[in-house]
Amino acid sequence: MLSSKSTSPAGSRDERFDGLLHMVRRQFGVLAVLLTTGAQDLQRFCASAGPIVRDTLPDLRMPLPSDANAHTLLLVPDISRDEHLRNHQLTKTFPSLRFLAACPLQAPDGGQLGLLCLLHDQPRELDAEQQKGLQEFAQLAVGALLLKESDRAEFELPSESERRKALAIVTSGTGVWDRNMLTGKVNYSSSWKALLGYTNNEVGDDAAEAYTRIHPTDFAYVLAVYQEAIDGRTEVFEVEHRLRCRDGSYKWVCSRGKVVEYDCAGKPVRMVGTTTDVTAMYALSEQIQLKAALLTDLTNEVPGMVFQNLRQVHGQYSFSFVSIGARDIYGVTPEQLMQDADILHLIIHPDDLAAYLGSLEASARDLKPWSLEYRVVLPGGGAAWRHGAARPRALADGSVLWHGIITNITERKLIEAELHVLASTDSLTQLSNRRHFMQHLESELARVQRSAGYPAVILMFDLDHFKAINDRWGHSVGDLALQHFSAILCRQLRRTDAAGRMGGEEFAVVLSDASVNEAKIFAQRVQDELASAPLDHGDESLTLAVSVGIASLHSTDVSAEASLSRSDKALYCAKRAGRNRIECY
Ligand code: GH3
Ligand code: MG
Ligand code: MG
Repeated sequence: MLSSKSTSPAGSRDERFDGLLHMVRRQFGVLAVLLTTGAQDLQRFCASAGPIVRDTLPDLRMPLPSDANAHTLLLVPDISRDEHLRNHQLTKTFPSLRFLAACPLQAPDGGQLGLLCLLHDQPRELDAEQQKGLQEFAQLAVGALLLKESDRAEFELPSESERRKALAIVTSGTGVWDRNMLTGKVNYSSSWKALLGYTNNEVGDDAAEAYTRIHPTDFAYVLAVYQEAIDGRTEVFEVEHRLRCRDGSYKWVCSRGKVVEYDCAGKPVRMVGTTTDVTAMYALSEQIQLKAALLTDLTNEVPGMVFQNLRQVHGQYSFSFVSIGARDIYGVTPEQLMQDADILHLIIHPDDLAAYLGSLEASARDLKPWSLEYRVVLPGGGAAWRHGAARPRALADGSVLWHGIITNITERKLIEAELHVLASTDSLTQLSNRRHFMQHLESELARVQRSAGYPAVILMFDLDHFKAINDRWGHSVGDLALQHFSAILCRQLRRTDAAGRMGGEEFAVVLSDASVNEAKIFAQRVQDELASAPLDHGDESLTLAVSVGIASLHSTDVSAEASLSRSDKALYCAKRAGRNRIECY
């Protein structure tokens, strides 16, 4: 069968595609190759290779599934098994047709220009590599189709409207070129010229001129890639480089191409390719890199560990971002933590792990900010304090994502502890001050009230005739006497007991789990010790004496002050009865 030579321009067979289609046919070993133009399923015969001519195949509706998009390759390995295709116009015209592959020709703006089809009379498959090959051939056909348009434009005068049109095309960012290797002439599509800011008549067709547009730094490299394709060492070449624009500036482009025709001696005679503007992409990726670098700098300079933590629906935690601060905060690298968030279970203090996990779960449940102070145990160091703060965000799939920071608060915790000691102890004797002692007494009273039968006793001590010591020996000796007494008192205490300086020369002791009798024995021991251990001062020694009032804590006491006042009353009795005595309320 011969192809038709129709005189109708729209329907005439386009000889420009002969070489390409025959190559496709040889490459895939199929009965026929068909090139059609048109959008979606309504296609018009354009060119063919093999026993298909326009007369046998006028305008046709291609069997594209209705939901196919312009980029999907339609593959029917066995038409006899495809109900839709069995009764199709195509199969009626060619009853022996068994295989069809239709690859859309995609215009640079994304629209569909037509189809490149493989037809065969046996069932067949196309593996992934072959599908890619077919798509590459389709791309070349696109180039040739676009060149056809630019040829027509060649005869028109470059008008302002044409320049505008050319600039409009440039937004698609891709141009096509076609090089005759024998004459050295290069044909550029309008969109190719527009890409560099030229109108149709402003670019010469000489290959030598083309080389002058390549950036000098990129020249050798581009030429080497190009030569590999000419020598047949690569089938399709692809290279990124800079091209000089009409205004002298340079654009980053990606050039792709391949030899599409050889002479009988196998020498390449024609090369076709595309040029895509990647300047914007380069600028964008540079911007992204800069932003990423800024982010890394920021998060790395922040003292602490900046993180992004994800809780999946089923409760699995993972870190999607961790700053370099992980080393100081947890003693691990960010990579280790991102690989396995559960290593924290070994790093967080065992006593604080439940609080850590529980607080995160609560934050995920209520979507309230997470904030927690907890301890970590790092190799070679004791417990260190960390503060975590993060905001949760619920994701569509039910998972929760936190952004937050962990800071080192060990120093603050130490200072807080020091302040607490300072605020709760008496500086002269190092015993609890009145406020702190009263807190202890409150908790002891609460225990008495909680547990029926649990006994506790309060003892009040007041040094006898202390004013006289001050008067006779001076205030500093009076201070020594106060320290001397508190040391004796402390020596008699069990670990569970507590003593405090209530003011001046008055002291109090609370004995937990003890009866009034045991308190009396305790008070007696203190008095005996005091009597047998006078305070040495120079050549003289001062013997101190103390009066004691004892009261037990009652579960009916409304406050610790109530218990204390009973022991005070007992103390008053001891003083009244002559001092150096023990009285019970
Ligand atoms: P009594 O046997 O009745 O308890 O007589 P007293 O002298 O011990 O009691 P009084 O309340 O008359 O005197 C207590 C004295 O303790 C008065 C005060 O100057 C002195 N004092 C209070 N605080 C301190 C202190 O911190 N250091 C010294 N050196 N003396 C203090
Ligand atoms: Mg007193
Ligand atoms: Mg006194």
